[in-house]
Amino acid sequence: MKRMSLKWKITLWYAGVLLVMTGLLCMFLFYASEQMVQSEAVARLEERVWDFLDEIEVEGDTWELDDDALLYDGGVTYSLYDDSGRLVAGNVPQGFPEESTLKSYTSQKLSEKQGTWNVYDVAVPYGNGRTLWVRGIDDAEPLSAVERAQRNLLMVIGPLLALAALIAGYLITRRALLPAEEIRRTAQEIGESGDLSRRISADKAGGELRQLADTFNQMFAKLEDAFEKERQFTSDASHELRTPLSVIRSEAEYALLPEMDEEEMREGLSVILEQSEQMSDLIAQLLLLARADSGREKLHKEEADLYEITEAAVRTIAPLAKERNIDLSLQGEAGVRVLADRESLGRAIRNLLENAVQYGRDGGWVRATVTSENGKAICRVEDNGIGMAPEHLDHIFDRFYRADPARGSGRGNSGLGLPIVKWIAEEHGGTVTVKSIPGEGSCFTLCL
Ligand code: ADP
Repeated sequence: MKRMSLKWKITLWYAGVLLVMTGLLCMFLFYASEQMVQSEAVARLEERVWDFLDEIEVEGDTWELDDDALLYDGGVTYSLYDDSGRLVAGNVPQGFPEESTLKSYTSQKLSEKQGTWNVYDVAVPYGNGRTLWVRGIDDAEPLSAVERAQRNLLMVIGPLLALAALIAGYLITRRALLPAEEIRRTAQEIGESGDLSRRISADKAGGELRQLADTFNQMFAKLEDAFEKERQFTSDASHELRTPLSVIRSEAEYALLPEMDEEEMREGLSVILEQSEQMSDLIAQLLLLARADSGREKLHKEEADLYEITEAAVRTIAPLAKERNIDLSLQGEAGVRVLADRESLGRAIRNLLENAVQYGRDGGWVRATVTSENGKAICRVEDNGIGMAPEHLDHIFDRFYRADPARGSGRGNSGLGLPIVKWIAEEHGGTVTVKSIPGEGSCFTLCL
């Protein structure tokens, strides 16, 4: 079954509640007016009956009705009864219940099939303990007529009111929900066209709907940003992979030329080997970042000594430093405890050391220092190499960014080393910062 739209649901609820409230109000008004009319009629009847008593002359053991007494006057019928309740004068309206009890000074409302009457009785004592009952009977029909008129009015007004409530409710709800419809339509269009640069216009919306539109817009902005990053990453990654691949291809073609001797072929093969190692390094880094992005790269943290981890990294990089005649040293204190994933933290420090050597000065120095400052474990990697201009410092942690592409043509210069360091630092609840002076050197600080 098709579900009812929100617009109709609100409209029906609105109209329903309005009708119930109006109904209750009408019932209250009817009841109050009925009570008023009734008490007025009773008061009038009582007064008439008392006036009628003036028409009766009581003398000793007898009573007498004035000659000009009217037993039916202005809608009121008067009837007189003796002690035993027998009708002795006057009459009763047609259909009036004969056997109704006489109650002195008490108004009654009696209903029969033929009609409804207000009745008021007065007991007139006379003679030696005898009683003459005087009864006034007033047709209560006019009262019912008022009720009937009111009911008829309600029968006409009720449906009209319901219709008006429905129409008004529908118009008000439609107007209030118009921005929601706009939000839905734009979101659908964005979904269908895939154009994430579009935004929902929330000009007409207010309150909650504006917040909803803003939330959607923020979500679209984030999605757009994420897609853009993804696109950039894929395009950069393919570009990076293409370079070594084309070197491999041309080297292979070159080595396969008929005039090539074995020596030249071997040379070609070693270039191919180097390039494929570079490619597999790059692919490993890409996979690591992709797993990091999707949250699949899980770190296994345990108590470790930052000094030991740094020492191991220094040992790995030492041959590289030696090649460039760089003095690689380690300073600081052992026993700087950290909760860390040894493998990842080791990789981060190796990346920093590798950069320091690579962008260092031939015959220069690279220094790793491990300390504990204000309860934080610090690993600092300094060099007296080429340094970086200030405008690069904000970007070197971006993927594929290279401050000095001319120098970054060696092995593993993917522009992914520092983004990986940053990710590892953050995964350990830490930071990595840089200070650098062009021509003088750089200092990277890993703070955990
Ligand atoms: P790469 O693989 O190119 O080294 P990184 O992400 O490790 O990529 O570094 C990004 C860029 O930052 C490098 O290309 C280089 O220009 C600059 N850089 C990093 N470390 C240093 C350093 N110690 N001295 C000077 N420049 C550096």
